[in-house]
Amino acid sequence: MTAERHEFQAEVKQLLDLMVHSLYSDKDVFLRELISNASDALDKLRFERVAGTEGGTEAGTEAGSDGQPELGITLAGDAAARTLTIADSGIGMTRDEVIKNIGTIAKSGTKEFLAAVKAKANQGALAPELIGQFGVGFYAAFMVADRIELVTRKAGETTATKWVSTGDGAYTIEDAERDHSGTTITLHLKAVDDEHGLHDYSNDRVVDDIVKRYSDFVAYPIKRGETTLNSMKAIWDRPKSEVTEEEYKDFYKHLSHDWNDPLRTIPVKMEGTLEAYALLYLPTKPSFDLFSPEMKRGVQLYVKRVFVMDECKELMPSYLRFVKGVVDAHDLSLNVSREILQKDRQIAIIKKQLVKKVLGSLDEMKRDARDQYLEFWAGFGPAIKEGMVTSEGDSEKILDLVVAGTTHGEQPTTLAEYVSRMKEGQDAIYVLTGTSKEAVARSPLLEGFKAKGYEVLLFSDPIDEIWLEREPKFGDKQLKSIGRGDVQPGSEDERKADAAAIEDQRRELGDLLACLKAAIETDVKDVRLSSRLTSSPSCLVADEHDLTPRMQKLLEQMGQAPPKVLPVLELNPKHPLMPKLKAAFGVNSTDPRLAAYARLLLGQAYLADTGSVPNPEAFSKALDDVMLGAI
Ligand code: ADP
Ligand code: MG
Repeated sequence: MTAERHEFQAEVKQLLDLMVHSLYSDKDVFLRELISNASDALDKLRFERVAGTEGGTEAGTEAGSDGQPELGITLAGDAAARTLTIADSGIGMTRDEVIKNIGTIAKSGTKEFLAAVKAKANQGALAPELIGQFGVGFYAAFMVADRIELVTRKAGETTATKWVSTGDGAYTIEDAERDHSGTTITLHLKAVDDEHGLHDYSNDRVVDDIVKRYSDFVAYPIKRGETTLNSMKAIWDRPKSEVTEEEYKDFYKHLSHDWNDPLRTIPVKMEGTLEAYALLYLPTKPSFDLFSPEMKRGVQLYVKRVFVMDECKELMPSYLRFVKGVVDAHDLSLNVSREILQKDRQIAIIKKQLVKKVLGSLDEMKRDARDQYLEFWAGFGPAIKEGMVTSEGDSEKILDLVVAGTTHGEQPTTLAEYVSRMKEGQDAIYVLTGTSKEAVARSPLLEGFKAKGYEVLLFSDPIDEIWLEREPKFGDKQLKSIGRGDVQPGSEDERKADAAAIEDQRRELGDLLACLKAAIETDVKDVRLSSRLTSSPSCLVADEHDLTPRMQKLLEQMGQAPPKVLPVLELNPKHPLMPKLKAAFGVNSTDPRLAAYARLLLGQAYLADTGSVPNPEAFSKALDDVMLGAI
């Protein structure tokens, strides 16, 4: 049968183009990617073999009873032919799987990924970390080869498939022969170019060195001829003192597809009633799909060094989904299913322990490496804060980890630091949420608090609306949103004094307020005088138990239709406009010009709050009326 020609999916073509013209200097990593794929394929086969077998935990890498070769990886370089061959005795692929796995990228976020890679590439360097993160490692081989042949046979099938490509947009596929299940990849190497990190990969010494460096802990023998190149020691089983920093890093890269170093490495050892080992990592940068529901979760489950499953969400709560690593639970059965895991008490205990370790490590970073922590929090904080909405138990610890912008200075601050600066008589932690950092920072709601010397914490992640809505307590101090009508700045005494002053001003301006309210009656719940403004004429607040305007917008964006609640418009009695309006209009509530002023004051408040007005035509018309009246 002749070879069939297929075009790569458009996204793959672009990706290959980036790979082929890669400026990335460390091209050696291609081998790590191919070995990692081989190791995955061996895991899958081993799991298929042992699952369902009682006491299958002893299943090692020795040859199966059916005459199958040992589970392992072999490397062979040929200097004369300028090739490097990587073969594994893993699960292999069917013809359809080859087309699906090696010709297309079916993962979510492909477009965003390519855009991100290209943006970086335009700056003169391919972003290798993005490629790794996205798990398109196979294509990295095109950095070093100008022609790749792959022959694979799926376990349980009799025929094999051969795939060939020169990386220029198309590949061919045809039937082939292979003795056993597994995959053989032959790289026809590009000319050596040491200056650009393209080494001689047909040379044994070069290859041995890369294997030692990147893949020493791979659980299967990586052989060249009779020599095993790797130690196969499970890194999480070894005492911390015996593992080098480099080994930890390389294992992270093998595991996570991230080409960056991890930010933190967290070894965990549990002994006693239950035996488990874990090696967890915090990534340096969030993957771009951190907020996509399809994001690949980071923790793998092993039982006595046998791989059981990927993305084990029973071991790590969703808000820590970015944590990568392995957990080896010695007392579990290899046959565990997801259903069993969900109810397993051991798993629950391990999970609790892991969460404690991760949060502890973050707390330490917050104390000892503030700059690093701030950067980390900027990327991962929005995910971590989800934990205060979803998982009940961890809220207190998470609150301890929160850092936020503040009116106190340029640098973000923690709640503990805020409390240490609280004024005498201040009984709550003041917070304000908004749609962006800039919007909260310039909100008129802050004026009164600033004028009286009260610090306000500034929040602008969408999730902040939700957890702050619950007014959590930090120690004995409640977090109170100053976007609510009932939250006034100051101590008991100050508030009493303010209330008295407002009472006087109301006597003065009461009629005017009634007229203004009448003009925008359908759009506001009330029009009141405010003690929280110093320079702005107006602001919006939510009534005590109502949704804030931003919360409403958020729910609408999430496809929910919250019951319409109207905001309260607060006016600044000290603003020069107020006496002028009173003098000009007196108690005439029907003057259309006064109605235009009311509409503009409302519009201004909306602009300060959400950056837009809900009814632009009416706002514009009012602006027209006032402008015309002014000349
Ligand atoms: P990833 O490993 O992140 O899935 P890759 O680009 O490295 O991405 O590989 C794509 C897919 O091709 C793998 O998910 C796997 O299904 C398949 N594959 C690659 N190499 C092998 C192999 N040696 N044996 C079996 N399947 C493989
Ligand atoms: Mg891979």
